[in-house]
Formats: sequence, structure tokens, C-alpha cells
Amino acid sequence: MTERLSIGQAERLDDVKANFYEITENIAKAAEKTGRRAEDISFLAATKTVEPEIINYAISLGLKKIGENRVQELLSKYDEYDLENADLQFIGHLQTNKVRQIVGKVSMIQSVDSIKLANEISKQSVKNDFVTDILLEVNIGREENKSGVLTENLDELIEKISQLEGVRIKGLMSVPPICDNTQEICKFFDNMYKLFIDISSKKLDNVYMDFLSMGMSGDYTEAILSGANMIRVGSRLFGARIYR
Ligand SMILES: *Cc1c(COP(=O)(O)O)cnc(C)c1O
Repeated sequence: MTERLSIGQAERLDDVKANFYEITENIAKAAEKTGRRAEDISFLAATKTVEPEIINYAISLGLKKIGENRVQELLSKYDEYDLENADLQFIGHLQTNKVRQIVGKVSMIQSVDSIKLANEISKQSVKNDFVTDILLEVNIGREENKSGVLTENLDELIEKISQLEGVRIKGLMSVPPICDNTQEICKFFDNMYKLFIDISSKKLDNVYMDFLSMGMSGDYTEAILSGANMIRVGSRLFGARIYR
């Protein structure tokens, strides 16, 4: 593979390798501080704008999960991902009319925040004779321009979605305001963890609180310390994004 890459890209691979090991080590340390093992934390790489060659290189280092944000980009890269060795998930805002294009191609859709979207995922899944795992996205920072359900509407959403045949709720996801280590902002991670535990303890039918997906390049350590068991890291692994 290296032969096909320019010198600049070869250097880029070296960076990705160093970053991958650094993040892996930080995950292990943070996990340990909370009495968990490194394997208890899923490291998902957010791969928007990143070429398949680079993504597959990270997979060759041991990366097990990748996540795309845009349907179009996912489809254009789909045939090139090394999906024998990694799991592809959808982590971006999903429009109902595009659901059909990705159901069956992704192992989990992390960004479900309405009954309408869940209904469509369920319908398309049933049509294809399977069940799609989903996470419910929570707008924990109550930010106006962000997707996600508000906490006061979460119970009702869970109740409705848990009755759908074609989807299985596997946990919660959030993109809170970046945690810059001031207590004020990191509390969003703690609030997400509380929600996660509350819902788990209700032991609802067809609701599995397996994943709490939160923490990105700038704050994944804090997220793990607050109880996240899946982090989604992009630029810290692949370098700054170049939008073409
Ligand atoms: C891009 C993205 C990430 C990763 O962002 P970085 O700051 O580059 O680590 C995580 N989650 C979602 C939903 C994203 O779109």
C-alpha cells in the first residue's frame, strides 16, 4: 500500500500511527482510573473527509470501529473500507429520506433523535429482514443548532421507539459543548452518565444501555473519566480535516 502513496502521505501515515498509539494509551489510562479495562472502551474513529487508504491504515493498526457523518460520503467510500476488520457506523445527522441508502450497510446508527427517523429505520430494516442497532442522541447542552432529543422528551421517545420491530436501542450518544476542563462544561458528561444509569436501571423491554458514546478529540479523556464507554475521535487521529 505504501508504494502508491506520495511522500507526504507516507509521513501522514507515520503521524496516524503515532496518534493511534497515543490515543490508545490515553484510553487505557483513563479506563484504569475508573476501574475499567482498555477493552471496555470502544474507540471509534470519525472518518469524515479522510481517504479510505488512510482509514484502512488505521484499521491495520488495530482500529475496530469507524463512523461517517454524511450519507453521500459514506456511499462513495463504501467499497473501499476494510470492513472485514472494522465495523462501520453512522454518526451524523440523518435525513429520513436517506435512511434507505444506509440501512444494511452500517452496524449502528448513533444519531437517532426522533420517532419519525426511528420509524423509517425500522421500516427499512424490517423490509430487509433485520434489526438495526441505534443510539439515541441527546442534546444535553440544550444548544439551539444541535440535533438530539432534549432530556425531558427522552423517556417518551424511548417508550415509542422500543416498540418498533426493526430497531434496537443500544444506548445514548451526545455531542455536548467541548469540555475545556472547567467544571461548568464537563458537567454535561456527568449529566449524560446519570441519564445512562437511570435508564439502565429501569430495565425496559427492548432497551439495552450498552453504549454511552461521548467525547471527541479535545475531551475524550474527560468523557471516559465521566463514564463514557465509546469515544469518537477524528482530528486527533487523522490530523486537521481538509474539506474539499
Ligand atoms: C467529527 C465528529 C467527531 C470527531 O470530531 P473531532 O473533534 O475531530 O475528534 C465526533 N463525533 C461526531 C458526531 C462528529 O461529527
